[in-house]
Amino acid sequence: MYNPKSLKAEEFIDHQEILDTLAYADANKDNVQLIDAILARAALRKGLSHREASVLLACEIPEKIEQLYALAEQIKKDFYGSRIVMFAPLYLSNYCVNGCVYCPYHAKNKHIARKKLSQEDIVREVTALQDMGHKRLALETGEDPVNCPIEYVLESIKTIYGIKHKNGAIRRVNVNIAATTVENYRKLKEAGIGTYILFQETYHKESYEKLHPTGPKHNYSYHTEAMDRAMEGGIDDVGLGVLFGLELYRYELAGLLMHAEHLEAVHGVGPHTISVPRIKHADDIDPSAFDNGIDDDTFAKITACIRVAVPYTGMIISTRESKAVRERLLHLGISQISGASRTSVGGYAEPEPEDERSEQFDVSDNRTLDEVVNWLMRMGYVPSFCTACYREGRTGDRFMSLCKSGQIQNCCQPNALMTLKEYLEDYASADTRAVGEALIQSELAHIPSEKVRAIVTERLAKIEQGQRDFRF
Ligand code: SAM
Repeated sequence: MYNPKSLKAEEFIDHQEILDTLAYADANKDNVQLIDAILARAALRKGLSHREASVLLACEIPEKIEQLYALAEQIKKDFYGSRIVMFAPLYLSNYCVNGCVYCPYHAKNKHIARKKLSQEDIVREVTALQDMGHKRLALETGEDPVNCPIEYVLESIKTIYGIKHKNGAIRRVNVNIAATTVENYRKLKEAGIGTYILFQETYHKESYEKLHPTGPKHNYSYHTEAMDRAMEGGIDDVGLGVLFGLELYRYELAGLLMHAEHLEAVHGVGPHTISVPRIKHADDIDPSAFDNGIDDDTFAKITACIRVAVPYTGMIISTRESKAVRERLLHLGISQISGASRTSVGGYAEPEPEDERSEQFDVSDNRTLDEVVNWLMRMGYVPSFCTACYREGRTGDRFMSLCKSGQIQNCCQPNALMTLKEYLEDYASADTRAVGEALIQSELAHIPSEKVRAIVTERLAKIEQGQRDFRF
């Protein structure tokens, strides 16, 4: 029986409720009166239920889809202004005991190079990332209790936070590692992680079990209930995601939003972020072997539906996607993007040798961080290197109340501008710097409080004189 408050995966992601939702969405996809009512509810910026969002996703009326897109863009502007948070992934190890059929790290793959960064390697990689200007990382590993135990991950986090190179620093380490125990989540919390990210891959239990035929990840319940354990372990910010292409996308949207509703119902706070990866070609993985691939239009529609359904949740797009797709999705709700990513274990300090490739998947956006920052600013976005919230204890529901209070523009906008200024001073090319300086001047006007604006102006001058790490 469907019960969002249950702690059992099969009850909060109830298969029958998803089937009923899809039937309801099909029956109502041309019901203009209902669709208008749902769009009007979405415009209140309080979110939508999985059923309501599923109707929007099923609707094929061009005029209504245009309205959905316009609303998604407006909601994004209201909550996030023009800020886009920047990050990079750092792969620590690709040893893996699982059999995920879409991932080249699967245990049976004997020709991919298996690698694990030593602490010295991490210093080199992170120094290279700092030299690009990154301040926020997402750590990635395969699952292997022997080659990549939790102690190794904890030690690596400590190493990363300890690296101080010129004006560089990694100020927030998010972690994307396999589902684990409450005790291990507590250790990650104590190590000072930002968000704990875990993609569900698919919410469809039967498919999940086929797609993960062997290894600990085969256990659907253990994987699906991981966020509850993470929260029990004290982690306030959790990041959800679906790997689009594995199952029917309409099933996944309903499941994803039910998961968000479950977290809200049980823990009083929904997901901090949602990622929307699509399957990519990788070593021995051919994406066309999966039947449920989605085209760019469908992908755009999913993004817009998520945006209006969970307005307070950050949305992440990686370099799996091309510049053109990223540009389109930025309008529809994406608030965080990666730049200059490598999906290999190592590869930031020096490119990997041809005969020792360890990438998890091909990236479609190969630009440098400076190019990505420049591109964003030319479109009027403010690339933000801000990490203030979790350092100021604004996690979980405290972050959500900042969103809801309307004070976000007096807090996030200043922090974005000050961290962008640091980037321009320390890492930008001459052209990027010129574009950025002009942008900062015009964006200062979007800080509502005169007092805060004056403080920011003063701090921007101090950054020019060499001071760093101001934050509200
Ligand atoms: N191993 C961890 C786990 O068990 O969840 C997560 C880390 S994995 C490095 C990060 C994510 O990459 C996976 O959750 C999966 O969604 C995604 N991924 C795996 N293979 C992929 C592929 N071929 N194309 C795109 N994304 C892929």
